[in-house]
Amino acid sequence: MPGEAQKIAVIGAGIVGISSAEWLRRDGHDVTVIDRLPPGEGTSFGNGGVLARCGMVPVPTPGILKKAPKMLFDPEQPLFLKWSYFFKMLPWLRQYLQNSTDEKVQMISDGLAPLLEDSVTEHQSLAKGTEAESFVKPSDYIFLYQDQAGFENDSYVWGLRRKHGFDGVAMDREALKAYDPALGDRYKFGYKMVDHGHIVDPGGYVKALARHFQQQGGSVIEADVSEINSVQDKTEIAFGGNRAAFDRVVLAGGAWSAKLAEGLGHKVPLETERGYHIHYINTNIKPPCPYMVADAKFVATPMADGMRTAGIVEFGGLEAPASKGPIELLKKGLRNLYPDFEFEDKTEWLGHRPAPADSLPFLGASPTHPNVLFAFGHHHIGLTAGPKTGRMIADMVSDRLSNINVQPYRVDRFD
Ligand SMILES: Cc1cc2nc3c(=O)[nH]c(=O)nc-3n(C[C@H](O)[C@H](O)[C@H](O)COP(=O)(O)OP(=O)(O)OC[C@H]3O[C@@H](n4cnc5c(N)ncnc54)[C@H](O)[C@@H]3O)c2cc1C
Repeated sequence: MPGEAQKIAVIGAGIVGISSAEWLRRDGHDVTVIDRLPPGEGTSFGNGGVLARCGMVPVPTPGILKKAPKMLFDPEQPLFLKWSYFFKMLPWLRQYLQNSTDEKVQMISDGLAPLLEDSVTEHQSLAKGTEAESFVKPSDYIFLYQDQAGFENDSYVWGLRRKHGFDGVAMDREALKAYDPALGDRYKFGYKMVDHGHIVDPGGYVKALARHFQQQGGSVIEADVSEINSVQDKTEIAFGGNRAAFDRVVLAGGAWSAKLAEGLGHKVPLETERGYHIHYINTNIKPPCPYMVADAKFVATPMADGMRTAGIVEFGGLEAPASKGPIELLKKGLRNLYPDFEFEDKTEWLGHRPAPADSLPFLGASPTHPNVLFAFGHHHIGLTAGPKTGRMIADMVSDRLSNINVQPYRVDRFD
């Protein structure tokens, strides 16, 4: 129904769901967001806040098969596994690792790049004129290494970033110290990416966007969605003891999306890649821009009320409680980064990155249920790519042509 106002439900009030809902509302549709949690309290609450325009490199890259087993047995390495979950995730893991060849990685990064490259301006245009605008900070993004040799060891991933037009500026110890006098001695080489950005309170940002959406006439319902069904030309969803029919349904349930998607008959190899943060409040030091601490694989990001360190990859499913090891590793990483760091208070958090086996999100209409659009699986880059995804979903609903090749995100690619 191009051009006509439609009744649309968006399942999920994370950055992807709220961005989709707001762009759809701006097109004149009657939009209801349904989430079992208040907006911005899923994975979008606790991420590292980095607008990683250059984040088109997936986790599995050539060589991972050799490195990963050693990392799993070393508590000082940022890769953890809850062994009781190992056999459950084996089919997904097999596919995930098969995607680590150079050929696959090139295809994946070609697919991710268009979702990311203009992400700072995408955030700015989504948030413009709303209270969320002040959360978006354009900034540098610096990759920290112990020395230049460490940087050169990462030449494969830097080759991928350069291929997509992202090159950095090398910083020696003196340049790093001049930029950030509090930086610990461990880091003697930096690679600065300009024209990136960060969000100074990711959960608060999504809430501010959701408030704007509601003030402008959008609805938000707190309920669990248990089923999606196509009924003639409508789509019916069951939530919190109710059933309602919509012209279109957008599934933006992050790491929890697989069950509903599989209920529609699609194969969706989606796991949670668990990650952690420690949020420090009222700190004596804030980094001048987000850092990616390359040896320990976490980001340190300046936040409105302090600083956040976030990262680590742990496999263990959606249900298992948080582990101690990753938090200890983040604490150790902070001591190396800022030996003189002090703070008044801190909170710790475990979150779930929605991780498809090929590291590419599922975006677009289901071929068998054309009124249902998938918008999930953004893995490590969901904050960065959320607003662009939302705009693409609105374009699809209004039959506007996209200037992006959407083939890599096909909903039925594993069927
Ligand atoms: C430690 C960590 C650091 C990260 N750092 C960054 C970063 O710096 N930059 C970046 O770009 N990305 C980062 N990410 C990734 C990013 O946070 C995610 O990709 C992104 O938040 C996914 O957004 P989403 O809206 O798809 O999912 P979510 O924010 O999880 O939202 C999905 C929502 O759907 C709801 N839901 C699901 N199923 C149902 C149902 N059946 N009924 C009702 N509600 C349902 C959930 O309650 C949830 O609120 C990080 C992730 C982690 C864990």
